[in-house]
Amino acid sequence: MIRHLSLKAYGKINLGLDVLRKREDGYHDVRMIMQTVRIYDHIEIDLRREPGITLSTNLFYLPVNENNLVYKAAKLLMDEFGITQGVSIRLKKIIPVAAGMAGGSSDAAAVLFGINKMFHLGLSQQELMTRGVKLGADVPYCVMRGTALSEGIGEILTPLPPPPHCKVLIAKPGISVSTKAVYEHLHANELKPDQHPDIDGIIRAIRAQDLADMCCKMGNVLETVTLRQHPVIRSIRDFMMEHGADGAIMSGSGPTVFGLYSDPDAARKTYEQFHYGSSSELAKQVFLTEFFNNKNHFTQGENQ
Ligand code: ATP
Repeated sequence: MIRHLSLKAYGKINLGLDVLRKREDGYHDVRMIMQTVRIYDHIEIDLRREPGITLSTNLFYLPVNENNLVYKAAKLLMDEFGITQGVSIRLKKIIPVAAGMAGGSSDAAAVLFGINKMFHLGLSQQELMTRGVKLGADVPYCVMRGTALSEGIGEILTPLPPPPHCKVLIAKPGISVSTKAVYEHLHANELKPDQHPDIDGIIRAIRAQDLADMCCKMGNVLETVTLRQHPVIRSIRDFMMEHGADGAIMSGSGPTVFGLYSDPDAARKTYEQFHYGSSSELAKQVFLTEFFNNKNHFTQGENQ
């Protein structure tokens, strides 16, 4: 029996994000290129004899009850399989919260994986993904990870080859952006053709391993909303482009911005500028990282 599991829940960026239309049920049809990055939350799951789920986290402002996606994910599987033992879960957040990096969805995906493993439930990856969509549109992708085209409301996934190697600089300004509010301001059915990023072009560039072309084509239609409301997002993007990035856009509904660098020295110098230099007031959280395409990475360790 597994008594303890250490898991890594990785964040994502969007190399492209397009919204096709607003549906009659209020959801939006999207086309997004999802990419896992090497930034992760730590999740520890311990088996307890007493029933129930207890959760603790290093961020005081996150809920530790059924409003946390970690709790919801554990409960979903434990209820379905009538598990009478309990678990205590510790969540150490590193991925910026409410930032467009799917941190909560990734935590949920890792916990689905962990509970399946700890209690030998025998669910396949596909079966975890089917359950994951009940927790959030990005959860199935976070179960799958790597590079993928995401369509529908985010639940139709097509794996893609990894993009060409580069450094990924991630900077989150000290503002909060509500995903719901961004979509409400989008008016998806009134966008002009040139406001839609060329998602198929990004896919072709990935297949051709052409970083320059991929960077030219990267785009996020949600910037049409957030750049107007939060000029700091544009400032970060411009700063990256002026300091050697091959391409820079906002991830998800923001406010996180990422820049891709074929030149690692330029990436390191810009990272230091954001950290200690002239532009340190622009970003509150900064990471220098890379794409992550290893599919077997949830488990860090386990004790029988
Ligand atoms: P996405 O890219 O999918 O839009 P996001 O990065 O915008 O995700 P998250 O960090 O996943 O947003 O979380 C958004 C909100 O969900 C937070 O305001 C938080 O209160 C709540 N939440 C619930 N569970 C978690 C969790 N495990 N980690 C982070 N936030 C969580």
